[in-house]
Amino acid sequence: MGVKTGIEWTDHTFNAWIGCTKVSEGCRNCYAARDNEHWKWNGGAWGPGALRKVTGRANWREPLKWAKAARAAGVREKVFCNSLSDTFDVEAPRLARKDLWLLVGDTFDALDWQFVTKRPERISEVMDEDGLNSGFFELCKCWLLTTTEDQAAANLRIPHILDIPAAVHGVSAEPLLGPLDLSCIPWLPDFPLDTDGAGFDGFDALRFDDRNSLAGLDRLDWVICGGESGPGPGVRPMHPDWAQLLRDQCAAANVPFFFKQWGDWHPGWIERCYELKGYTPSWSNCPAAAPWWPDGTRGVGDHRVNGGLAVSWQRIGKKAAGCRLDGVEHKAFPAARQ
Ligand code: SF4
Repeated sequence: MGVKTGIEWTDHTFNAWIGCTKVSEGCRNCYAARDNEHWKWNGGAWGPGALRKVTGRANWREPLKWAKAARAAGVREKVFCNSLSDTFDVEAPRLARKDLWLLVGDTFDALDWQFVTKRPERISEVMDEDGLNSGFFELCKCWLLTTTEDQAAANLRIPHILDIPAAVHGVSAEPLLGPLDLSCIPWLPDFPLDTDGAGFDGFDALRFDDRNSLAGLDRLDWVICGGESGPGPGVRPMHPDWAQLLRDQCAAANVPFFFKQWGDWHPGWIERCYELKGYTPSWSNCPAAAPWWPDGTRGVGDHRVNGGLAVSWQRIGKKAAGCRLDGVEHKAFPAARQ
């Protein structure tokens, strides 16, 4: 549960407990739930009422060792906390969570603790419950990320994550399930834009124009993007447009962009069927289209029209699909605020 990890954007993973409840589409193929069903870490159940199993003492000692080694080497190491649960889950074991804050407090001089949550709206409440406050994350130089698998999740979650002071604010767009516009205004600090309580008027409109650009993204320090992977028929492909859109927004706003993986499906060729062949941009009208959605059971040569483009994916597996976007690897990290 505490291991040198295969996740490229961190150095270690540490699981304080195992178990969670699915909260949105991004959870549909949760690898933790799937692996737990197989390995039965908490007995095998997942969801409301299922045991959140606190991991063993030996596991809890691991971060202390990593911190010691990092101090000796004069480097900082990153720790992704709770890859098999969500730290801010309403059913998280409270005593273990309090112990986790103590562990973070003991090691933050050497370790960058990374928390990724789909429940950022609960962070303040959780810290209050635990007798702390949300200033803890800034004090302990933590990285706070929220998962944004689609625009609805981004709109809902990003304002909450930005409300909590932290060394790094980021989003993990994985599995990316739709196009994401991170320049949207709802997470600007003074949203809604009724600045004087007199309703949205010309003055507010001027401000809106100023900010209806990449300003929203300026408040994020890091964007991770990745497609879905795993066994079984339900794994969903990531459209290349969605990844390119995120990459380009990050480049324009000077935000570090980390393209983790395509996932199981790799886009093969893209045909401008609408423009070149005059098809109506609806995948039901594309003669090349095959019904891969939502069960994803079809293999080579599946199609879907998206905005006039037909894209063909091959399910070749995560390793073979790799992590090159238009031939380039993107592995940027943020500079933590001191
Ligand atoms: S929040 Fe994370 S750990 Fe919990 S069910 Fe969703 S994907 Fe799995």
